[in-house]
Amino acid sequence: MKIAIIGAGPVGCYTGYLLAKQGYSVKIYENHSSVGSPIQCTGLLTKDFDKLGLSKKDFLVNTFEKVTVYSPNGKVTIPQKEYLVCRTKFDKYFAKLALNNGVVIKVNHTFIGRSGKTLRIKNALQNKIIEVTPDIVIGADGPLSPVAKAFSFYHPKRKNYFGIQALVKGKFDPKFFSAYFSKDICSDLFAWIVPESISTARVGLAMYKDSKKYFDKFMAENGFKSKEIQGGTIPLYCPQQKLQKDNCYLVGDAATFVKATTLGGLIPGLWQARVLADCIKYGKDYQKSCRPLARRLHLHLWIKRIFDNFSDKNWNKLVKYVSQPRVQKSFKKYTRDNPLPLVISVLLREPRLLWFGRRLF
Ligand SMILES: Cc1cc2nc3c(=O)[nH]c(=O)nc-3n(C[C@H](O)[C@H](O)[C@H](O)COP(=O)(O)OP(=O)(O)OC[C@H]3O[C@@H](n4cnc5c(N)ncnc54)[C@H](O)[C@@H]3O)c2cc1C
Repeated sequence: MKIAIIGAGPVGCYTGYLLAKQGYSVKIYENHSSVGSPIQCTGLLTKDFDKLGLSKKDFLVNTFEKVTVYSPNGKVTIPQKEYLVCRTKFDKYFAKLALNNGVVIKVNHTFIGRSGKTLRIKNALQNKIIEVTPDIVIGADGPLSPVAKAFSFYHPKRKNYFGIQALVKGKFDPKFFSAYFSKDICSDLFAWIVPESISTARVGLAMYKDSKKYFDKFMAENGFKSKEIQGGTIPLYCPQQKLQKDNCYLVGDAATFVKATTLGGLIPGLWQARVLADCIKYGKDYQKSCRPLARRLHLHLWIKRIFDNFSDKNWNKLVKYVSQPRVQKSFKKYTRDNPLPLVISVLLREPRLLWFGRRLF
């Protein structure tokens, strides 16, 4: 059976690797000239990454033990083990896994459309169009998923953020990173300062629109300057997005498998790759098999909707509640990648947090 994957991001390459290991003939088509660039990601992973059983040594940049969350008038330091990775090396690691297992990765190849089961792919180097007719097509082609559009199932309700970040120089404590929640700083989500080392950090924010305006203000207020600006689209999880149509499957950002509260898509996408490989091997229903992962993302979406209606006063109150040592214990134990146990544990320790549920409506 021949499988074509569009997109050699980490999720596309991991899917390719898993399928090739099962004996399928896999080709990945990537529009850029090399895997892993340009970088469009901060590269934070929760410690849940370890559950995938993959080595980190090729791409790990830093390990954090805590995160400081700022509200407009307060702050709280939360114990959370997190990893910071180099996205270029991270992507190359997954590409190598795929290549070592017989996957063919064709860079400079852009998927441009289809007629029936035949895909049209443009080879940029030779300036010619090739046609391929795989048995299965996998769209691992990111938030704007040309594959989902060509197969007419890119859901009209999908919404995208635009994230923008810079690599800056300064003095940082590399043991923790910071997130800033305030309508003034970033009205749609939050801004971040994530140290790579004592002298460099990744600084950024994500918004539906006006990202650059707010980003420039945040940089100026913190005295940061940078020539190395990166930006990219990040999908908001869309529960209505179908994951399969005919012989075409979506995975990762293409499927909007991203946590709405933090816009972290790497761990959900990699888990979804595993589910997809299993479904193809055993002929299982992909949409159904993704439900446990989708439920987690749905909870993130609800929390995000509550946050969307937060005032600065609400943020201050939340930070005050979370500062309590009994609440902090929950964050030590659970990560946001599996939010239900975390939410239940936090609510049991501080039931007044339930009051914020009113903000859902
Ligand atoms: C500023 C920013 C910060 C972020 N920070 C984090 C973070 O800290 N932690 C985290 O977990 N997530 C983060 N994310 C999200 C994360 O980057 C994505 O969730 C992740 O890259 C998804 O991987 P993917 O393989 O599904 O898609 P992608 O990495 O987007 O890969 C898709 C690939 O498909 C290729 N492609 C697209 N169209 C075509 C086509 N027509 N033909 C051929 N190839 C095509 C693209 O070039 C790309 O290489 C961040 C995103 C941004 C923008």
